Amino acid sequence: TTPTPWRVADSSKLYMADLESVLHYTLRVEVARFSDLRGERLTALKRYVSVLAKYFPARPSVRNVLRNLNRWLRGVKERDLPYSAVEAVLRNKKEVPNARLMNRTIWVGCQGSQSQFRGYPCSLWLLFHLLTVQATLPKGQNASPLEVLSAMREYVRFFFGCRDCAEHFEGMAAESMDKVKSRDEAVVWLWSRHNRVNARIAGTTSEDPKFPKLQWPPPSMCPACHKKFNGQQVWDEGAVLSFFKAHFSPSNIYLDYIP
Ligand code: FAD
Repeated sequence: TTPTPWRVADSSKLYMADLESVLHYTLRVEVARFSDLRGERLTALKRYVSVLAKYFPARPSVRNVLRNLNRWLRGVKERDLPYSAVEAVLRNKKEVPNARLMNRTIWVGCQGSQSQFRGYPCSLWLLFHLLTVQATLPKGQNASPLEVLSAMREYVRFFFGCRDCAEHFEGMAAESMDKVKSRDEAVVWLWSRHNRVNARIAGTTSEDPKFPKLQWPPPSMCPACHKKFNGQQVWDEGAVLSFFKAHFSPSNIYLDYIP
């Protein structure tokens, strides 16, 4: 195979290519590993698609796919669903106008220096950070503060291919996710848990040497996020939240490399 060309990315931006790639990968690869969807796994899929349809800042053609899939899944009353039926909806056999989902992955901000690094797990984090932030907008005001985090917890539990990761994540969720009382706290919870993962796996074999794990955002990206308290470097969580609302906003998503 020919090596993938290096795609230039700016770490202060988000790329739609990464975000649409994660939609493709979750819905067509990870979920597809279960030829029969039933029980809690089917519920997990429905919740995942419902938060995507509600909060993913999609281009019109992708929005149509997500809304169509969500509408269809809500109408599914069977307790058992073959994956092939999901696939048929994604293939858009009924020909809903202007509904199309990318059918391969194109990593930009999540491109690794070698193919075994970054890519999908990177984009899954980005997706859920983005969704927790989008849920703080007025359209999320009547929902439970745990709406997006619970959808993530269940997606990871029932579908995420990295089973070690899923177990660790479930451990963190079981420990403290229920303490989240607002949509802003949901953003902060996911940020701090992601940083815990970064700290735990820094220097291990899953770290891309070209993208060392850091406590994020570093001072170069968000000076206001870091403050001194009794001579110690600590986080300013209010500043982190403001930074997240700007960083994970539709206006910071770029369309580079989208075919
Ligand atoms: P990632 O950690 O994937 O981060 C992606 C991007 O998000 C970064 O490039 C940066 O722009 C931004 N970012 C970084 N930190 C934060 C933050 N705190 N908040 C918001 N944005 C941030 N790997 C393991 O080896 N062991 C595990 O137990 C494990 N558990 C995982 C659990 C989950 C739920 C997920 C999604 C992944 C897990 N992984 C685990 C994979 C690992 O976290 C990385 O995704 C992977 O190593 C790729 O790293 P990366 O350099 O692309 O950065």
